[in-house]
Amino acid sequence: MSTDSSHSGNKPTVIIVGGGIIGCSAAYELSKAGFACTLIEKGALNQEASTAAAGMLGAQSETHQPGPYYELCRLSQQLYRAWTDELEQVSGLTGQYVAEGIVRAALTEEDEAELRGRLSWIRDAEWVQPAEMLKLEPELTAAVRGGLYLPADHHVHPVWLAKTLQAAIARQGCTIREWTPVIRLLTEPGSGRIRGIQTSEGPLYADLVVLAAGAWSPALTEPLGLSLPMFPVKGQCISLKTEAPLIRSTVFTKGCYVVPKRDGSYIVGATQTEAGFDKRPTAKVIGELHAKAAALLPRLADAEFVSTWAGLRPGTRDALPFLGTWDAAPGLIFATGHYRNGILLAPATARIVSELAQGRPTSADLAPFTPARAAADTAAVL
Ligand SMILES: Cc1cc2nc3c(=O)[nH]c(=O)nc-3n(C[C@H](O)[C@H](O)[C@H](O)COP(=O)(O)OP(=O)(O)OC[C@H]3O[C@@H](n4cnc5c(N)ncnc54)[C@H](O)[C@@H]3O)c2cc1C
Repeated sequence: MSTDSSHSGNKPTVIIVGGGIIGCSAAYELSKAGFACTLIEKGALNQEASTAAAGMLGAQSETHQPGPYYELCRLSQQLYRAWTDELEQVSGLTGQYVAEGIVRAALTEEDEAELRGRLSWIRDAEWVQPAEMLKLEPELTAAVRGGLYLPADHHVHPVWLAKTLQAAIARQGCTIREWTPVIRLLTEPGSGRIRGIQTSEGPLYADLVVLAAGAWSPALTEPLGLSLPMFPVKGQCISLKTEAPLIRSTVFTKGCYVVPKRDGSYIVGATQTEAGFDKRPTAKVIGELHAKAAALLPRLADAEFVSTWAGLRPGTRDALPFLGTWDAAPGLIFATGHYRNGILLAPATARIVSELAQGRPTSADLAPFTPARAAADTAAVL
């Protein structure tokens, strides 16, 4: 393994740690901006949370209050279509973008009250009465109490998006090293500046390092004295098929969603449990998820079973990502903790990482997402 950055001529060098959607998107944007990028992944690219996802771009359906996080989600949603078009042109593949919205159906009084409460601040949303909702999606349960129609909450296929991104970053000349665990970040004695990484195959140095290691990120910041309050949140999904198409929109209710993919399958998701790094799907939970889906769309009771899987969302205590830099470790850019919305947030995150790397003003105010909030927590514990 090369141990310094001299191989890259005059280009500034960046190492990206973690080859999920966030690391791959950052690598793409940084390569485009003229950095010599090396993407390091402990396994194969995109085999963790990013290909376990359902692919919803749910800026409206996934946020519960107005504020900077909602604005970041909106920014990313607005970038998405042009970003995937560009990736498709570069790679010759498709991320299977589907420009159909989400029907957020209320099945209980409590859910209805919560959804109605969002109307005061949410954009691109309208309240739909039960009869109208059944016109929109006739296969929905007749027990539906109405709900929100969210036309801007489109979706992609995460597995195909991952293939597209991988091909695009290879085309950009990014160096990709799979099966290479990063053991620790290398710091300059005295200044704390990050100089590179120690891998299973030796050290590697660069001008900048991007931390995009998903749920595994805390193991790399702990030796710097920064305890990131992050944990894996297991999500289980099922894929089903029906003979004739059932729905056009994604249909979403509390605790269950059904996303119709271009190949005629439906991704049904997703459970949410904190179970450490165990990502085995379990029969009981999958059975319960199927029962919820069939309560929402009764014809799914007899659907063909295709497959099941689970993934580990990079959860954070305040459900906000760590995005930005930290004064105690110059040279390190944080892009982690995207929890339930890393597919949605990929283009905005990548753009912001590239802006930080170039020392330019960022497209969003990063104060709410600063890694320093973990440093404050760490100090309080010590
Ligand atoms: C069931 C489920 C459904 C979801 N649905 C949606 C959805 O509809 N919409 C949405 O926007 N989001 C969704 N998400 C969330 C989304 O998948 C995540 O937020 C996103 O994938 C996080 O991307 P990431 O690149 O940070 O993490 P990951 O994809 O987990 O990638 C991190 C990578 O870092 C690597 N790594 C870790 N440590 C090291 C190390 N020391 N050295 C080298 N490599 C390392 C890992 O091997 C991994 O490949 C869902 C998640 C799940 C589980």
